[in-house]
Amino acid sequence: MKFGTKAIHAGANPDPSTGAIMTPIFQTSTYVQEAPGVNKGYGYGRGQNPTRDALQENIAALENGKHALCFSSGMAATDAVLRMLKPGDEVITGDDIYGGSYRLFVNMYEPMGIKFHFVDLTDAENIQPHITTNTKMIWVETPTNPTMQIVDIAACAEIAKAKDLLFVVDNTFASPYLQNPLDLGADIVMHSATKYLGGHSDVIMGALICNRDELFKKLYFILNSCGSNPGPMDSFLVMRGIKTLHLRMERHCFNGRKVAEYLKNHPKIDIVYWPGFPDHKNHEVAKRQMRDFGGMVSIVLKDKSIENTFKVASSFQVFSLAESLGGVESLINHPATMTHGSVPKEDRERVGVVDNMLRLSVGVEDYEDLIADLENALKELN
Ligand SMILES: *Cc1c(COP(=O)(O)O)cnc(C)c1O
Repeated sequence: MKFGTKAIHAGANPDPSTGAIMTPIFQTSTYVQEAPGVNKGYGYGRGQNPTRDALQENIAALENGKHALCFSSGMAATDAVLRMLKPGDEVITGDDIYGGSYRLFVNMYEPMGIKFHFVDLTDAENIQPHITTNTKMIWVETPTNPTMQIVDIAACAEIAKAKDLLFVVDNTFASPYLQNPLDLGADIVMHSATKYLGGHSDVIMGALICNRDELFKKLYFILNSCGSNPGPMDSFLVMRGIKTLHLRMERHCFNGRKVAEYLKNHPKIDIVYWPGFPDHKNHEVAKRQMRDFGGMVSIVLKDKSIENTFKVASSFQVFSLAESLGGVESLINHPATMTHGSVPKEDRERVGVVDNMLRLSVGVEDYEDLIADLENALKELN
């Protein structure tokens, strides 16, 4: 089956008791047993829920994976992966990963004795010098947030395979519509389903997808032991959102291109970060591993003042100033104080997250209105 058909049908079987075409919201904490231990495969709601099962089957299909597990948030999914590590283990990851992942790594896992190497992964060659006998995992995000750098997934997979390292890709920014890391050699794909998968800014959820049975069993054991499961209503919402993922992504990509090209020629803009530009450092890699370039665009204003940047950020009519991304509505974000507020100033500035940067999550409105809104907001600058 092709992508759009899977988005609508995978995991979505008519309810056997009524024929309901939509998977019911099984709002239950437990399941009646005929005799102790004799049940229909469902014991307790933390471990299993039919609405969640349907969603997991759907997400696995979208990522061309065998197994998927859903979590109460993207961070809970990330946390579940890190719980497989022990003190002394080392992880190699990007130097501009999502701020919340950075916070989890540095503030929760470093004190427990796990070491993280934050490396510029836009060249996979940079991984090798950091590999020690204790290295266990490579954690990659691509495109990165907010500078839209591209990491070569297949090249990282090759290094991970050669050294027997677990290779994890946070695929939130691309969504499975644009990129399928398992096909390129990843062991685990992670999603913040809060973003493009859910797509309507109405739910928080995370997901992990993998092919190997023993990996799935370990992750399921962690989910069930730690209780990081999502609720049935949230599972329903994400499944409903996914039914239009392919349609939304088509428009996100179209609008993203229009907005990026408009901004590239704007006299008050210094830099536009968008992987679709032929002069983007890893444009060729992006073309190879992604089907299109997505709806995330970041800009750096020529005006360096944070006050003026705030003025622009606060003067939009169609874009809303908010954290998050991937919903139908366009959002604008000030990474330095919002999504990356927990990353130290020197660290974020080194990777280009400066005070005069703004990140746009281009929604699926009519692009003419988005461009008019940008034009108007940028008039705040002299
Ligand atoms: C939002 C996000 C996360 C965290 O997901 P939550 O659902 O907010 O917990 C992780 N990685 C990336 C790239 C994100 O954008």
